[in-house]
Amino acid sequence: MSTTVETFAELGLSESLLKTLSEIGYETPSPIQAECIPILLEGHDLIGMAQTGTGKTAAFALPLMEQIDIKLAKPQALILTPTRELAIQVAEALQSYAKNLPGFHVLPIYGGQSYTIQLKQLSRGAHVIVGTPGRVMDHLERKTLNLDNLKTMVLDEADEMLRMGFIDDVEWILERTPPQHQTALFSATMPDQIRRVAQKYLVDPREIKIKSATATVAAIRQVYWQVSGMHKLDALTRILEVEEDFDAAIIFVRTKTATVELADKLSARGYAAAALNGDLNQQMRERVIEQLKSGALDIVIATDVAARGIDVPRVSHVVNYDIPYDTEAYVHRIGRTGRAGRTGNAILFVAPREIRMLRTIERATRSPISPLTLPSRADVTNKRVADFKEKVAGVLNAEGLDFFANIVSQIAEEHSVSAEEVAAALAMMAQEGKPLQIVGEDPRPAPPPPRDDRRPGVFGDRPERKPRFDERGERGERPARSEDRPRREERAPRPAPAGDMVRYRIDVGREHGVEVRDIVGAIANEAGIESRFIGRIGLYEDSSTVELPAGMPGEAANALKRTRIRGVPINLRPDEGRPGGGAAGGFTGERKFDGERKPAGGERKFNGDRSVFKKKIDR
Ligand code: ADP
Ligand code: MG
Repeated sequence: MSTTVETFAELGLSESLLKTLSEIGYETPSPIQAECIPILLEGHDLIGMAQTGTGKTAAFALPLMEQIDIKLAKPQALILTPTRELAIQVAEALQSYAKNLPGFHVLPIYGGQSYTIQLKQLSRGAHVIVGTPGRVMDHLERKTLNLDNLKTMVLDEADEMLRMGFIDDVEWILERTPPQHQTALFSATMPDQIRRVAQKYLVDPREIKIKSATATVAAIRQVYWQVSGMHKLDALTRILEVEEDFDAAIIFVRTKTATVELADKLSARGYAAAALNGDLNQQMRERVIEQLKSGALDIVIATDVAARGIDVPRVSHVVNYDIPYDTEAYVHRIGRTGRAGRTGNAILFVAPREIRMLRTIERATRSPISPLTLPSRADVTNKRVADFKEKVAGVLNAEGLDFFANIVSQIAEEHSVSAEEVAAALAMMAQEGKPLQIVGEDPRPAPPPPRDDRRPGVFGDRPERKPRFDERGERGERPARSEDRPRREERAPRPAPAGDMVRYRIDVGREHGVEVRDIVGAIANEAGIESRFIGRIGLYEDSSTVELPAGMPGEAANALKRTRIRGVPINLRPDEGRPGGGAAGGFTGERKFDGERKPAGGERKFNGDRSVFKKKIDR
């Protein structure tokens, strides 16, 4: 780590926030947090440069939360993010940091969401607004958002807002914020235009840049797996199972909580695993390390701080289950293997949004990290069978085998089967809950990662930014991505029924209490399609149909497949034509204008079908 700050307490945060951080498992501040939090707490403006995954949200969120007057139910902080997914994510992060702050209210506002709902929420009074520039602009214009009490303004991912064409909107908003407030600008890069905005609107800003020091790493085999197609835990066990010369591993995660969770899950799967984190006292820590040395434990799941300086020669593998914050941490981590002249293996899990960090690590360590092909089910089966054969072979010469041979003969005779069949039955029994044969299909391999993860997605956001409410704080660990990718026939939908629209069927209907506007709202939100581009909706008893523009990107389709309406998974798929889904039901006809299609400030043009799914659908 590029800083000597070890605890959040050193940064000057209040007791209540420190308690929360400990509860959610943050052990030590990330470098950007260590540098920025004290500066922001002192009230300075700030420019923070650090790439994705370095913990920027807490870097600005924690200090701004210290300034909030809970009794004042007015927006006191405004955070601008380039996409609605980020707005939701940041709002969720703030909500989690507000665990011990009763009455704290953060509100995400973004395009695609109904104005009526937002107005209601705004009028209830939120302390922090997290929004996309377009929607925030609209609310300022309509005077439904009042910034008179603003204390802090944050521009998150400023370069991304520039790239997505929002910089004028951002300036427009900055022009209209009261002069007395703190401004923090975060960006992974600092293009001229962002620099210019900073010069114009920030007052004497401090500048923090988390740079990546170069370092050389020992002769360690370094591979990465791009998280996709399967849960990280399943991938981990698969990899560990077939890794050659596996002896012991240290697995790095970000939070204390994650060390315990992963240790429990691995133990449940039969591994001798234990957690190593800052909550353990010195004696307990030493005990864990002793056990790893002696072979009583094979896997230790650790946070960076807790694993510092561990020297256990039998550690054959280091797994970066969560990607480190910076290259220094990476070098420290992988230095736990390949000790005492042995070969070491470093495996890195990289979520799509973290590809940049991977490239930075490669550059900084001047060593390429090669992609790892996830072992297939057949690979695992073969390995298990080979191990099993070896185990059986080891017993073939054992003493006292005659007694058992006799039993086998008896069974064979009593059931008129061959000894081979009896042996097969015994082999099956000998699996002990760990089947030799893994059946089923392998997930598709991940597409090759782009060299630059900032490439524009075709849809309303970079696909990897889709919010996942169920995985807060563990976003790398998204569930099987390619498994929930549409199957082949679904990816080639039937020709559109009318013009360039495609009709889809969803598994909710009148019996679920669903109305047309529920469907429009959910689809507009989840797929980022403006409601005016949503075509006819047919409402039946137990299902419905909806027409959507042709050429829907896979990510949007995925998002919609996971969408629920009134708690029911909609399971969106191209409609195979049978009206009514088998149940008696009527067609409700054309969808009525729902009153939320024309925000103030004019609407964007529908110029060709693909553009429906493009970026600036924000308003
Ligand atoms: P960025 O905005 O720089 O891309 P985020 O703020 O989204 O990064 O943080 C990335 C992940 O790291 C999140 O899952 C967050 O909960 C986690 N995280 C952030 N700070 C810490 C910390 N000090 N300790 C442990 N985990 C952290
Ligand atoms: Mg961020």
